[in-house]
Amino acid sequence: MTIHILSDDLAAKIAAGEVIERPASVVKELIENSIDAGAREIKVEIRGGGQRLIRVADDGSGIPASQVETAFARHATSKLNSVDDLFAIRTLGFRGEALPSIAAVSKTTLISRAAGEESGAQIRVDGGKIIEQRAQGAPQGTLVTVEDLFRHVPARLKFLKTPATEAGRIADLINAYALAYPQLRFSLVNDDRLVFQSPGTGRMFDALVKVFGIDVAEQMIEVGNLKLEDGSWKLEGDSPPTSNYHVSGFISPPNVNRSTRKYMLFFVNHRWIQDRTIQHAVIEAYHTALMVGRAPIVALDIVVPPDMVDVNVHPTKSEVRFRDTSAVFTAVQRAVRAVLTGNAPIPSIGVTMPPAPQDWQRQPFPSSPAPTQSAMNLYRPSTMPNETAPISNLQPPISNVQIPMLRVLGQIASTYIIAEGPDGLYLIDQHAAHERVLYEQLTAERAGATVAVQELLDPAPLQLTPAQTGALETHRAALESVGFRVEPFGNQTILLRAVPALMKASDPRAALVAILDELEQGEEPLEKSADARLITSVCKSIAVKGGQVLSLEEMRELVRRLEHTAAPRTCPHGRPTMIQLNVATLEREFGRK
Ligand code: ADP
Ligand code: MG
Repeated sequence: MTIHILSDDLAAKIAAGEVIERPASVVKELIENSIDAGAREIKVEIRGGGQRLIRVADDGSGIPASQVETAFARHATSKLNSVDDLFAIRTLGFRGEALPSIAAVSKTTLISRAAGEESGAQIRVDGGKIIEQRAQGAPQGTLVTVEDLFRHVPARLKFLKTPATEAGRIADLINAYALAYPQLRFSLVNDDRLVFQSPGTGRMFDALVKVFGIDVAEQMIEVGNLKLEDGSWKLEGDSPPTSNYHVSGFISPPNVNRSTRKYMLFFVNHRWIQDRTIQHAVIEAYHTALMVGRAPIVALDIVVPPDMVDVNVHPTKSEVRFRDTSAVFTAVQRAVRAVLTGNAPIPSIGVTMPPAPQDWQRQPFPSSPAPTQSAMNLYRPSTMPNETAPISNLQPPISNVQIPMLRVLGQIASTYIIAEGPDGLYLIDQHAAHERVLYEQLTAERAGATVAVQELLDPAPLQLTPAQTGALETHRAALESVGFRVEPFGNQTILLRAVPALMKASDPRAALVAILDELEQGEEPLEKSADARLITSVCKSIAVKGGQVLSLEEMRELVRRLEHTAAPRTCPHGRPTMIQLNVATLEREFGRK
């Protein structure tokens, strides 16, 4: 092959691939343009999960008729002039790539009328080629319609998830922007149904109510300007920020949490971004107040001087680089921790917090040596590597290694069961063990088509997010087959009528929400079959948690049931349920042999 320059068309499609990954990317770019244009109201309409149609209407400044064609040229922008501007960006867009990228992979129509112009203009572009341009009467603002996204890019089309899932991502996106820009009114119409509308009052709290529901919003804690007063942190009202980094927004108390980090939303200078450092700073701030595997609900805006942050890291502009990462980390962690310690965590019903350590437990043993490498090796899981099935395995883990009868001795850290067997000591992770027991029981019940169902006595309504509704629609049959009975109850609300009988001990509504979040999140094509995943996440959410005190009787029952499973040494995710210290090891470590 000779080296040659790619055709404009091909180059445009390649560039488009970096910016436009899925329907939600189109919505993101279009609403960012509307925000940059000073819109007060942004209306989004989608069909077929956005693949068939996305329409974004705004009442912003509009584009002068003479410039609509230029707007679709590659690297055409009104937001950047010189290299210096790149380090002081105050707009969401600046790369001049969105409109040409969208137009390269869809059929795009833009109608716009600029402030002060008599008439508007319309331009139609199909697969990157302009097919029509003419005058068009229109209200001031811009209306962009994107149809048949990726119709001519089969590789991309194949990667799209179900329309419900794609619509869920769009809804998540609009929720995030509604929180970042509470002064703007956003709405989303999905297949002719209005599924979201933010009030545009200018208060983030009002947007929170719309996004997470009043019950959650009322429990959220405001993070704001803080000042130290009488030895404790106080909110400083609306005085101007004092430091370079100003953190504001809302966080949930530790007892209001989710099984996914996707409700941890961060904005840097009102730009919605993904950032591990900030996420880590928040999780750190909660310290041990959160249970393992749980994440808080967070919406935080971090305002940074524009020259302290580089937003030109990735074509999608969803990542940033800070000049001083540790300053950002500290600012976020302090702000969150200050309000958390001011609002002592209230353990929620059904969640048993581990008891505070007694003084003697804090004392190190007089001459306990630091753990050596060989001592650490002791705690290796006793399973062989090939017994621990990877998460993506379709089959349940194959483990012919059964466990002997065990005698339960007690519980450590309210999380591990300590037991004795003929061959030594066993430490059992109560959550993992229970997951294994439930997994096999539910799988067996389903195979026999006799899933025990438990009707709820008080089927109270449960409000779902659009994404959760999407997951529910996609997995409804599978959820029913394991024992859930759900009825629609109006706008985004359902009635939970029955649950798998196995679920009796836990909060069924919270469990269903956790399952939907997980189903909606991890939808990777190569993961387990939908069924296996469903059962796994059902088990995860109803199994006894770490940190829960169990009676000797409960532990005996759990261990007895674990002994009878087909693969007692791993949980359904493939992690070990137990580690073993055999007598030979003990003898060696104590120098008896
Ligand atoms: P960028 O946003 O990076 O400048 P885009 O390709 O998204 O690049 O848009 C190109 C230009 O078109 C923008 O710089 C802006 O001048 C104009 N434009 C796009 N959308 C709108 C809109 N909704 N309202 C007003 N002007 C717009
Ligand atoms: Mg743009």
